[in-house]
Amino acid sequence: MYEGVVQDLIDELGRLPGVGPKSAQRIAFHVLEADPEDIHRLAQALTTVKEKVRFCATCGNIAEEQRCRICADPRRTQEVICVVEEAKDVVAIERTREYRGRYHVLGGAINPIDGVGPDDLRIRELMTRLSDEPINEVIIATDPNVEGEATATYLVRLLRPMGITVSRLASGLPVGGDLEYADEVTLGRAFEGRRAVEA
Ligand SMILES: [Zn+2]
Repeated sequence: MYEGVVQDLIDELGRLPGVGPKSAQRIAFHVLEADPEDIHRLAQALTTVKEKVRFCATCGNIAEEQRCRICADPRRTQEVICVVEEAKDVVAIERTREYRGRYHVLGGAINPIDGVGPDDLRIRELMTRLSDEPINEVIIATDPNVEGEATATYLVRLLRPMGITVSRLASGLPVGGDLEYADEVTLGRAFEGRRAVEA
């Protein structure tokens, strides 16, 4: 459709999540018309993030060091771990300022249709932490949708026999959505009103 490199850019942009062909074309033209310095800064940010950012060796959160900011913070209690699907859920929960424990990022949710099973998630790493760290409560904060529920059910079954408190967020989160879209007040309340799962 366009000359080589312009089409290459449109193709690359079109591979980004949430960017359809029309948006890809619009962004490409923005790039063509923008100041070279602005685009250089954007390119630099993309490269730097890939060079510097990795995943925390302990919890799977985004980190610039071996361990993330939260795992490295001695003021965060070690006794409570909140299990979430993605690093962006950590940000959502941090915004509520309700939680002072640590996290464990699974890297997704169980989804048979997409072929994602328990072994594809960081569940083994979670079990290792439970035996190595003085954890006495695991809060399961997966997304309030089908995949999140399936993952939570699986985890409850796995964790209950271990003699630790397993709790779920209180209801009230918008069903079918992502944790990250819940507003701070709702998510904060869901956290505060969390309940231990009965045997
Ligand atoms: Zn971490």
